[in-house]
Amino acid sequence: MFQLQKNVNLQALSTFHLPAQAAFYGELTDEKQLPEICALPEFNQQTVLWLGGGSNVLFLDDFPYLIIKLANKGIREIARENGKVLIQAAAGEVWHDFVQHTLSLGLSGLENLSLIPGTVGASPVQNIGAYGVEVKDRIHSIRCFDLEKQTFIKLSNADCAFAYRDSFFKRAGKKRYVIVAVTFVLDETFVANIRYGDVAKVLAEQVGEREITAQDVANAVCSIRRNKLPNPNEIGNVGSFYHNPIVSREQADALLQTFPEMPHYPLADGRVKLAAGWLIDQCGLKGKSIGGAAVHEKQALILINKNNQASAADLIALSDYVVQTVAQRFAVTLQPEPNWLPE
Ligand SMILES: Cc1cc2nc3c(=O)[nH]c(=O)nc-3n(C[C@H](O)[C@H](O)[C@H](O)COP(=O)(O)OP(=O)(O)OC[C@H]3O[C@@H](n4cnc5c(N)ncnc54)[C@H](O)[C@@H]3O)c2cc1C
Repeated sequence: MFQLQKNVNLQALSTFHLPAQAAFYGELTDEKQLPEICALPEFNQQTVLWLGGGSNVLFLDDFPYLIIKLANKGIREIARENGKVLIQAAAGEVWHDFVQHTLSLGLSGLENLSLIPGTVGASPVQNIGAYGVEVKDRIHSIRCFDLEKQTFIKLSNADCAFAYRDSFFKRAGKKRYVIVAVTFVLDETFVANIRYGDVAKVLAEQVGEREITAQDVANAVCSIRRNKLPNPNEIGNVGSFYHNPIVSREQADALLQTFPEMPHYPLADGRVKLAAGWLIDQCGLKGKSIGGAAVHEKQALILINKNNQASAADLIALSDYVVQTVAQRFAVTLQPEPNWLPE
């Protein structure tokens, strides 16, 4: 029988480590448990939270409903043809461990996404991305449990409506589908994608003249991230706290007249993506703190939980302050990236 616990401390189950409790909590270790979970008296499709590694959620208060953590494991090769390999991983696999595993099999494609916290199952939800790669580029299909029809289904990449930090699972599919496994399409032959950030520079330092491998790229990405980002096991955080804002060409041009050095990235649809971290930094907010919540000293895009002393009120006040300050200076509204819970 599926075991539930009552009044479970959530501090260790989310990487921001805010103090909160879940009324009911259980861990799914096998997808076959899903029908049984749905039949529990504590289960409600609208309020249940499907949790991965908790690196993109903020528990701002006690969670008065059921939380199910995806802890199912398993990785298997599905097919291999013309240099492409389909690999399926269970939702509860730790993302970085899975990436390392694919590299150890001699497969490439996920190396730029090394060291992103969280689970395989959450990776499609916000279409995780880093260093010029988004996971959508490598997702073949997704095995889900349809909570309405109580059946397992397969969604294709196209079904998932992937976009920048966005997918079907944050929109029409929210509350209806639980991701139980993801199938990735990886390459037997490595083609480097090292144009973003400092990857090429760090590779040159670490590898020298030797021909680079996918594992080298992964190592370089890990070094950069370890230098730049606070480790959530040591300092509570959820990574980038805001989406990079997307503005009209006209608004970007107007801002560039006043701030010619502003980083900006034209998009295919004519709009322009700005760098939220740069906007926050320009407002002089690095190190700004309210109670136990602070803007990280090195990375303006990251809000942190200093000494795990922040309350939800501290974090909300700090985030409001950052959003207002940026809006006053640049007339750009920052949108928080993590999920604020309970909704
Ligand atoms: C230090 C740090 C660095 C980060 N860097 C990056 C980065 O470079 N790029 C990036 O994109 N993100 C980054 N993130 C954000 C985060 O790691 C990702 O969003 C990650 O995919 C979240 O995984 P998780 O398992 O922790 O998800 P959770 O936080 O547990 O859940 C996130 C959301 O997904 C839903 N969900 C989780 N699992 C499932 C499932 N199996 N089925 C259905 N819904 C599910 C949850 O209900 C919730 O809405 C970073 C976070 C931190 C702390």
